[in-house]
Amino acid sequence: MNQIKIGKFISETRKSKNLTQRQLAELLSISDKTVSKWECGKGLPEVSLMLPLCNILNITVNDLLSGERVSIVDYQNKAEENMMDLMKENEENKKRMALSIICGVITIIAVCSLVIIASYISLPVIVRILVLVLAFATAVAGIGAAAMLEVKAGYFECPHCKALFVPTMGEYVKGYHTFTKRRLTCPECNKTGMCRHRVVR
Ligand SMILES: [Zn+2]
Repeated sequence: MNQIKIGKFISETRKSKNLTQRQLAELLSISDKTVSKWECGKGLPEVSLMLPLCNILNITVNDLLSGERVSIVDYQNKAEENMMDLMKENEENKKRMALSIICGVITIIAVCSLVIIASYISLPVIVRILVLVLAFATAVAGIGAAAMLEVKAGYFECPHCKALFVPTMGEYVKGYHTFTKRRLTCPECNKTGMCRHRVVR
């Protein structure tokens, strides 16, 4: 899916309706920064906003995702292409999420085994220390890899403006979190809150 093309198309259609970015944003109850982001090709409207946006711009979702008005002849092909693109993106995110969980489980098993070896098997002190250091290094590497995969799998949803965004690694690591939510600052409305992790759009 070509986000730059879609962005240009949103911008052109909006202008042809004599709407400013702010007016369009108000109609959708979102921030004008979000509209500007779409038009710059830096993000797609989330699924729940696609229909209202298309109604205002008087286009179909298929037009929107194709970044142009689709003729009746091309309609079915384009619709299938767009659907496959959205599904592929969701599939990739699900795969990353699964990898992240596998990575976490392997890390826990490896670290536990190393700690058990160091604690219960009689070894020279120096070897015992080395095994513990190895356990620590494994834990750090494993948690890091799992986090990196998770941050790339999907989006976090702002509880205030419902924007979907991908946090930076630094922010992600610092954020207080529960199993499904993480405290992050939303790049759209700049408010901080517990953002829900969503694997699919
Ligand atoms: Zn927000």
